Amino acid sequence: MNRQLLVVNTLVELRENLKTLRKSGHKVGLVPTMGALHRGHLSLVSASKRECGVTVATIFVNPTQFAEGEDLGKYPRTLDADLELLQSAGADVVFIPEADEMYPDGFSTSIQPPDVAQKLEGEFRSTHFSGVCTIVLKLLNAAVPDVAFFGQKDYQQACVIGAMVQDLNFPAEIRVCPIVRDEDGLALSSRNRYLDDDQRKIALTLCETLRWAAEEIESGELDGHLLMAEMRQQLIDGGVDSVDYAAICHPNTLEILDTIETPAVVLLAAHVGTTRLIDNCVVE
Ligand code: AMP
Repeated sequence: MNRQLLVVNTLVELRENLKTLRKSGHKVGLVPTMGALHRGHLSLVSASKRECGVTVATIFVNPTQFAEGEDLGKYPRTLDADLELLQSAGADVVFIPEADEMYPDGFSTSIQPPDVAQKLEGEFRSTHFSGVCTIVLKLLNAAVPDVAFFGQKDYQQACVIGAMVQDLNFPAEIRVCPIVRDEDGLALSSRNRYLDDDQRKIALTLCETLRWAAEEIESGELDGHLLMAEMRQQLIDGGVDSVDYAAICHPNTLEILDTIETPAVVLLAAHVGTTRLIDNCVVE
C-alpha cells in the first residue's frame, strides 16, 4: 500500500517536509514534469522509487521555456488525474507551485545554457533551454535531491541538464530513463493529446523513420548526409507538415556525424498540423 501523496504548493512547505523525510536517512529522488502525466512520466517515478526512499515529483508548466506563439496557453492541464496517477505510482511528495512562487515580481536571473544547447532544438527554439535550465536548477535547489530523473524522450534536454549540473557543481546524480512508447511505437508525449486520429497516424512516421535509419546504420551505411536527407524526405512523404531537423549525431556532443560511427543518436523534430513532435533513438 502506497503512502498518502503529500501535495505542497510553496517552496517553504517543500523544504520543511523534505527536512523531516530526509531524517529517515533515505535518498531523495526528483522527477520534474509539466503535468498531463502519462506512462513516460510514471516510468521516471518508478525509477526513482527503485533507487530512492523518497520520491518528489514536480508539476509546473514553466512559462520561461515557451517562446511567444508556442503552446503555453493551451498546454494540457489535468491536475486531478495527475494526482491519482502519482498516488498509484507511489510518489511521496508532489510540488505544484504557482508561477509567482517560482518567478516572483522582480525575478531577473537566468541560466545561460551550456554549448550543447545551441544546436538542434536551440536553432529552432533559441530561448527554450535557458528557461529549462533556470527552472531545473531552481527545482534542484528547492529539493536538493540525491538523484534527478529525466527521460531520453527529450534527449538534448538530458544532455543540457547533465552539462549544467556538472558545470555548476550541483551534487546530484542525473539519470536518463528510456523512452516509453505506445504499442504502435509513438513516443508518449503530453502533446499527443493535440493530435486528431489522422494526425496521430501521420505522427507514427517519426518512429518509423527512426527505425528505418537505425536499420540502415546497423547494416553499414556510413554516409550521414545521405541518411539525413532520406529521413527528411520520408517524414514529408509520411505527411508531416514540416521538418525542423532530421539529424544523426554524436551521442554526447550532438555534433552532426558526416561519416557515421556508432554509438550515434538519431534525432527528429517535425510539425504535424500545429503540433511539434520530437523523437530519437540511440544506435549502438
Ligand atoms: P514533460 O512533462 O514533457 O516536461 O516531461 C517531464 C519528464 O518526463 C522529462 O524528463 C521527459 O523527458 C520525460 N518524458 C516525457 N515523455 C516521456 C516518454 N515517452 N518516455 C520517457 N520519459 C518521458
